[in-house]
Amino acid sequence: ESFQDLEMGEIIMGNIALSRYTRPTPVQKYAIPIIKSKRDLMACAQTGSGKTAAFLLPVLSQIYTEGPGEALQAAKNSAQENGKYGRRKQYPISLVLAPTRELALQIYDEARKFAYRSLVRPCVVYGGADIGQQIRDLERGCHLLVATPGRLVDMMERGKIGMDYCNYLVLDEADRMLDMGFEPQIRRIVEQDTMPPKGLRQTMMFSATFPKEIQILARDFLEEYIFLAV
Ligand code: AMP
Repeated sequence: ESFQDLEMGEIIMGNIALSRYTRPTPVQKYAIPIIKSKRDLMACAQTGSGKTAAFLLPVLSQIYTEGPGEALQAAKNSAQENGKYGRRKQYPISLVLAPTRELALQIYDEARKFAYRSLVRPCVVYGGADIGQQIRDLERGCHLLVATPGRLVDMMERGKIGMDYCNYLVLDEADRMLDMGFEPQIRRIVEQDTMPPKGLRQTMMFSATFPKEIQILARDFLEEYIFLAV
């Protein structure tokens, strides 16, 4: 019943202590071991359940234990390449898609807390804000990207972001993203040729509800997934 039992390594445990989380919430208790076992996950969880840490902690934990080796190095090497418009292109190891600027910023804030004193640099991009400033921030390095779907498609088209090394994909509040009409952008991102196919990447979907449209998305994006309802 403690974060110790979830065995996530020193950096993570230190950052959890700094964040003053004392014990895992139910979604954290059940989702963290599933994600650490490298299975795909479809989780039905509400806002306020602690779902953000439920995916950020095990994803960062896996990146830390595998890194600063392969994944980070591969992404770093690729970042030397030039993007379409001349500047460095970034290859995040982990992508989190979220429906709104507010949620994206909340996830980003939490990612910064848990990535503290690690080699992982989180970034956030969302629509309705100056794209130039977001590009300049990306160019400083981006290992974990939190993004709203429309702005990410724009970044990809500008040659600023490549998905070639995206080993961890999270769709947060998937039902809300579909309600907002983001399905074409989401499919564009997830189904592009350079994204590692399902089975090779690890994919986690979070949704408050589980209607037909979400079941179809889960069927298309997830590989032999575990279903969790809390
Ligand atoms: P979320 O459902 O991810 O939006 O989280 C809701 C709120 O709960 C956020 O303010 C988190 O910082 C906080 N929170 C998440 N997990 C824990 C935990 N294990 N202990 C205390 N607070 C938490």
